[in-house]
Amino acid sequence: MTQSFNALYQTSSSEQAYELALSMIDEVFAAKYCFVGRLSDDGARVRTAAFHGQGNVLANIEYGLEETPCADALQSVDVCIYNEQVADLFPQDTMLRELGIHAYLGVTLRDVARNPIGILVAMFEQPQDFSEQSLQWFQDLAFIVAAQARHDIDIERKNTMLAELSLRNIVFEQSKEAIMITDSENKILRVNPAFELYTGYRESELLGRSPGVLASGRHDQPFYANMWQQLHNHGHWRGEVYNRRKNGEVYPEELSITVNRDDKGEISHYIGLFRDISDWKESERQLRFFANQEPLTGLHNRRSFLERVEQHIDLFNEQRTLSSLLFLNLDRFKDINDLYGPEVGDRVLVAVALRLQHCVLSSDVLSRYGGDEFTLLLANSSPQQAYACAQRILTHICQPIRLGELNIELTCSLGIAHIDNNTKSATVFVRNANHAMLSAKRAQSQSIVIYSDEIEGQYLRKIQLRDKLAKALKANELSVAYQPIISLRSGKITKFEALARWHDEELGTIYPDEFIAIAEEFGLISVLGQFVLKRALNDLATLHKRGYRHIGVSVNRSASEFNHLLQPVEAILAALHEHQIATHQLTIEVTESVAIGAQKQVQDQLNELRDKGVKVALDDFCTGYSSLSHLIDLRADYLKIDKSFTQQLLGEHKHQVVIASLIKIASELDMEVIAEGVECEEQHQQLRDYGCHFSQGFYYSEPVSLAQALILLEQADSLTSPLEVSH
Ligand code: C2E
Ligand code: CA
Ligand code: CA
Repeated sequence: MTQSFNALYQTSSSEQAYELALSMIDEVFAAKYCFVGRLSDDGARVRTAAFHGQGNVLANIEYGLEETPCADALQSVDVCIYNEQVADLFPQDTMLRELGIHAYLGVTLRDVARNPIGILVAMFEQPQDFSEQSLQWFQDLAFIVAAQARHDIDIERKNTMLAELSLRNIVFEQSKEAIMITDSENKILRVNPAFELYTGYRESELLGRSPGVLASGRHDQPFYANMWQQLHNHGHWRGEVYNRRKNGEVYPEELSITVNRDDKGEISHYIGLFRDISDWKESERQLRFFANQEPLTGLHNRRSFLERVEQHIDLFNEQRTLSSLLFLNLDRFKDINDLYGPEVGDRVLVAVALRLQHCVLSSDVLSRYGGDEFTLLLANSSPQQAYACAQRILTHICQPIRLGELNIELTCSLGIAHIDNNTKSATVFVRNANHAMLSAKRAQSQSIVIYSDEIEGQYLRKIQLRDKLAKALKANELSVAYQPIISLRSGKITKFEALARWHDEELGTIYPDEFIAIAEEFGLISVLGQFVLKRALNDLATLHKRGYRHIGVSVNRSASEFNHLLQPVEAILAALHEHQIATHQLTIEVTESVAIGAQKQVQDQLNELRDKGVKVALDDFCTGYSSLSHLIDLRADYLKIDKSFTQQLLGEHKHQVVIASLIKIASELDMEVIAEGVECEEQHQQLRDYGCHFSQGFYYSEPVSLAQALILLEQADSLTSPLEVSH
């Protein structure tokens, strides 16, 4: 986790602030060198104000900017990044070479008018690959360091001015800063009108007294001892002091004291210059606010959320205070964005944030963790309370959202994790809740899952399968099985559905329902899809060569394949061309939700394929969102009745009626119906009686290898249906 900036606001001098900022860089990036630099010589040179090398404080240096990456960084608005070989890119910059620098990060520090005043730099010995998050952190850090530098410059300017004008009365009298001059014994000699205004004391009341009259009592003895020591050693001290006005009010001031020595080097005066920093404190507060808030919803951002979670983990370790973490993810939010545009997406997120706020207590910490993910830390809550809260949230979120004319249906998945001894860090806590959420998402939408070891096991398996699948795909270790599709009119095989198969040496057979989902989730699906397509067309070409020229093949395509592949239509057509297969002998099976899905481009692609002669089948019809009205809008050649529906054929009469009329309607719309999952003679007979065109299922054959598919074809030539096959 990147570090919190809180400590930076608590430093009492700029030296301390710079040091701390560099230590934070050391910790987050383990940079070889890092420094805070201030521009000098009219912007031609940089002088470091703090400099670290391998985590240690180094003496400050000065260098010319010409032909250095820093000159580049000063030109850019964002973080200036060189991931590698920066020394080669700036051959003139001998320092880079001498220090052995490979990678470089630099951000310009600017004054209020956006003019550069300095630079924050981190340099690395090895090539780097910076994450988005860490770059953002670095930029935020620079923002705070810049505020400190601005303040510094301000003060320095004033101090020099005073010195230059050797305390000419006019400055003294008219300065907006309060000024107090004390003698070598630290007895008040003079104060200016601004001082009188701030403190409420008249000069006459103070003359000859010690500045101690202003003390608020908020600082202890060591604080003053340290101040005096610095003054004597360095001639200067600056820090934040709480003082008391004559009316008793305590206020924060930034106090800068300079020792003035006479020609002999003896202390003649102390000059104290201070200003009320209530304003500065206010901007600090704002800065903190921006650093912690997610701009769209106003909820905590991820960093600030993690910080608080960290605090609760400490509380648990010290006092066994329980807490739970909820992880919420909206279902199909991407569809909302694609369908209605990002502005509507944003409004949905804001509405969700508002609904969530209604469900939580003020002690809970709610954040927009990222995209359509929200996290909630339930402080001081028992597992039962957390579950009740999750249920409340589920009911609240899963209500349609009205935005003007639009009525958007919303559902979400929720995961809960409870704190325990294994909750070592905020990231672990969030990860657990996230894994539970993913498990809820898999189960079905609108569900709540509580994190457990079992869920962790599932997650680990998933990660393991992802890695193995990526390897297996690379090594061409998957295979394809073929399940015949029978014409119910002729009883003959007309085509085969190609189904991906995976056998792993260690884990055994892994079923497509599991690995297809993983391929989809981890972006492997288009590689898999292309593999199956090519293999299927290659095998089909073999069947054609053996004389079965009328046979076709059907391959499955997932929704995400249409998005991932660069040119899905071209890829399919190219594969057909390569294997010399006619377009009408290929059927692409997509689920109904893909075909009617939000993205018009998917529909366009399917239409383009159909225009070229490729057939399209609507897979798994009657599950999910099926509606007859969709059928009218869609252009498809085949409708595949899902196996769960086919199986109902033997049940109640009303199911039979539904299937019979579905077949009728599809036929009227020029679609042919394929019934899946036919397992027995009765189903086969009934489907034939209803005029169903094709069928597929274990009754005829399981999915088989290419060699067995050839045997099926040979046998089928000599048989009427059903096929009798030995596997
Ligand atoms: P699907 O497209 O609905 O494929 C039909 C599934 O039903 C196959 O399961 C098949 O073995 C099974 N099946 C066939 N006849 C019967 C039967 O009589 N009774 C029963 N109970 N089941 C039968 P499989 O091979 O496990 O595939 C599962 C799903 O995985 C497929 O469902 C498909 O959605 C997906 N899939 C398989 N291969 C691919 C592929 O190459 N690409 C993509 N995108 N998805 C694939
Ligand atoms: Ca299918
Ligand atoms: Ca199916």
